[in-house]
Amino acid sequence: MIQKRLESIRKKLLDLREARLQEIRRQNADAAALIDEGVADTADQGLTDSLKDYLHLLGDAGREEILEIDEALERLRDGSYGRCEACGKTIDIARLEILPFTRRCLTCRQEAEKEAKTKAGPGKGLL
Ligand SMILES: [Zn+2]
Repeated sequence: MIQKRLESIRKKLLDLREARLQEIRRQNADAAALIDEGVADTADQGLTDSLKDYLHLLGDAGREEILEIDEALERLRDGSYGRCEACGKTIDIARLEILPFTRRCLTCRQEAEKEAKTKAGPGKGLL
């Protein structure tokens, strides 16, 4: 039973990976087109540069997610999948089905979020 659910999680991870890769390819094509337009259109190099930075950041976020997916697939292979990296407990399979590349159980995730909020303080962390 659990094996079946893990197998469907594995398929989901592979689908997600493919979707992210396509997104990055599309973003890169959009970015290239926008940058070409900007350069041809005006001499506003500043705008083009910040646009380039912005799209670069988007691409990095996508790449990071692909890394997370790859790591999850690796854990599925070596049998450590579904264990919380913080407390070592088994992560609820229902949670894994929603967030297949999560590395922490809900409790530890909430703890980490609380901590991040305290560190950033109110109103900070937006820049
Ligand atoms: Zn945990």
